Amino acid sequence: MNHKNAIKHPIFQYISQSAEELQLDCYVIGGFVRDYLLERGDAKDIDIVAVGSGIMLAQQVAHNLPTQPKVQVFKTYGTAMLRYNDIEVEFVGARKESYNEDSRNPVVENGTLKDDQNRRDFTINALALSLNKDNYGELLDPFNGLADLDKGIIRTPLDPDITYSDDPLRMMRAIRFATQLNFKIEETSLNALANNKDRIKIITKERIVVELNKILESPKPSIGFIHLEKTGLLNYILPELTALKGIDEIEGQKHKDNFYHTLEVVDNISETTNNLWLRWAALLHDIGKAPTKKFSKKVGWTFHAHEFVGSKMVYKLFKRLKMPLNDKMKFVQKMVLMSSRPIVLASEVTDSAVRRLVFDAGDYVEDLMTLCEADITTKNPRKFKKYHNNFKIVRDKIVEVEERDRVRNFQPPVSGEEIMKTFNLKPSKEIGIIKEAIKEAILEGEIPNEYEAALELMIKKGTDLGLTIDD
Ligand code: ATP
Ligand code: MG
Repeated sequence: MNHKNAIKHPIFQYISQSAEELQLDCYVIGGFVRDYLLERGDAKDIDIVAVGSGIMLAQQVAHNLPTQPKVQVFKTYGTAMLRYNDIEVEFVGARKESYNEDSRNPVVENGTLKDDQNRRDFTINALALSLNKDNYGELLDPFNGLADLDKGIIRTPLDPDITYSDDPLRMMRAIRFATQLNFKIEETSLNALANNKDRIKIITKERIVVELNKILESPKPSIGFIHLEKTGLLNYILPELTALKGIDEIEGQKHKDNFYHTLEVVDNISETTNNLWLRWAALLHDIGKAPTKKFSKKVGWTFHAHEFVGSKMVYKLFKRLKMPLNDKMKFVQKMVLMSSRPIVLASEVTDSAVRRLVFDAGDYVEDLMTLCEADITTKNPRKFKKYHNNFKIVRDKIVEVEERDRVRNFQPPVSGEEIMKTFNLKPSKEIGIIKEAIKEAILEGEIPNEYEAALELMIKKGTDLGLTIDD
């Protein structure tokens, strides 16, 4: 079957023409071909393999293109990259690879298209389309990748034990593709993942996180995390999650398996938000439960202060995985820290409790509600409905209270300067006491969030403190 349709973008004509001028063969290979055949939409990154110099081909293409783009050359990898409009094209010379024990960087020599397809990670990623005049658009599929695409199978072209051991990043990629595409990992591959799990140690944290993020951005992230757990990889990457596994029972009292509960929460939230960091928050919202778990005869299982402990663990986890310790990390910490607040509140929705929630969560109050709704995993339909209903009431109340009291980004209605001027004060602890009293009165609903009322309370508090008004 011919696939000219896949390569009707003008860029392919330029590449084909340039290859002919250099008298070499070239092919589009990998993700672009796979995603076209899966009808996942046109990929914006295109990989070209040239039988000869990929760098020279890139330069020839750049020369022929009307836009005359710059070619970025990566000498050490023998690759080159150029941009054409919103498309990124990567060129590589066909190569044969061999590996050493301690590195995922192979020894490379020039090879044929077949050699190059051999070094690809999965049969579905080894599919190539010819860009050569005599068979333009022909699919070259030496490992039956097309059949695997149809059946939804992740399979390595060569012995999976060797494939994963050579470059352990492929273990993460296998699981990531299985999750993104909802494919099955073929059984010998699954076994090889478990056999080679220790090899993940030679992969940099940054690369692991790229794959973790792609798993989390998938429609149903639990597919990936279950694979990671079953193969033993998760214990190397996120031991905080494996620690949540299992159900303890003492004197007939059990708690839920917090690992599988967490995965349900992640799947739930992935139906309502694409926000990667909110998905991270869902993944980590219960990690404090492992170190805080206790049993007492009176109350059964408790996880006292697990939200606080969990939010501290988020920092360590991000640091260990070399993820940026920026406002995204702080957002995840905040979500974990506050993850039980709306639940406590839902049993009795009072104005003041809602005001405090909005005050503490600030702009993240909607995200927090989304997290808490995803956290409802009860299998009892009556409870499920009731909890969702309660959160609906909380959400309505948030809107109502916010319209009236505007505490979301709370600004004190009376400033510190005004307090100092009124009582002729130098900076002192009394100012803090008065400001705090005004804030508390507003949150409690004792006074409205308005200047006049705050001023009145300021004067009363100041007088109570023995201050005199300076006029
Ligand atoms: P996506 O772009 O969606 O992540 P992709 O398959 O295009 O998917 P890339 O990382 O862009 O992934 O790699 C392009 C191609 O290079 C792959 O399709 C595959 O053929 C090959 N490849 C990438 N990484 C590896 C690897 N670690 N081992 C073997 N082949 C790889
Ligand atoms: Mg790609």
